[in-house]
Amino acid sequence: MAITIPADLTIVTLRSGGRALAQRWTEAYASSVLQQASDLLRARTNIEFSRATLEQVVEEMPAGAAAETVDEAGYHFLAATYKAGNGVRALLVDRVSRPELGGQSRQQTRVCLIAYGSDVAATSRMMAHELGHLLALPHVDSGRRPGPGQESQIAAWMRNLMYSGALNPAAELTQTQVQAARSSPLARRFGGR
Ligand SMILES: [Zn+2]
Repeated sequence: MAITIPADLTIVTLRSGGRALAQRWTEAYASSVLQQASDLLRARTNIEFSRATLEQVVEEMPAGAAAETVDEAGYHFLAATYKAGNGVRALLVDRVSRPELGGQSRQQTRVCLIAYGSDVAATSRMMAHELGHLLALPHVDSGRRPGPGQESQIAAWMRNLMYSGALNPAAELTQTQVQAARSSPLARRFGGR
């Protein structure tokens, strides 16, 4: 049975020194990226994400955070200001100081941060990867070190959607990952078990 999770999209333009900074996300592009990320996850897990709301906001980063990009402190400020509703929220920002801001707390906040990318397929995979984290999936290669002669294991990790590095178009998920995602706390809210 398909699990449908509502997703709020918030395009966040940063303001610094009284002027708005660059923001390349548009509402049309944000919708396309969510649709493709949802299609990918639906094909792998039968979990889909439907757009609930889409809004554009302007925010100034707080003292102690970087002003012209979103860093760790900026993520926590934004996640506290734009809390997730019933489902998840994706904050769409022009730039981030490094990928995967928010770390472990993302699963609790159900808020992920996606930096702009001009390639819709690659950006959609990144969003699907972030939604995978919200579905309680860790990096497939975290804390595991393949021994010598395990090139095939490394190659499999690199084809996985939850790989820690650059995402391969194959964007695979194992049956174990699919089961974990469908029984995650987030999926359970919407009928998963
Ligand atoms: Zn990740």
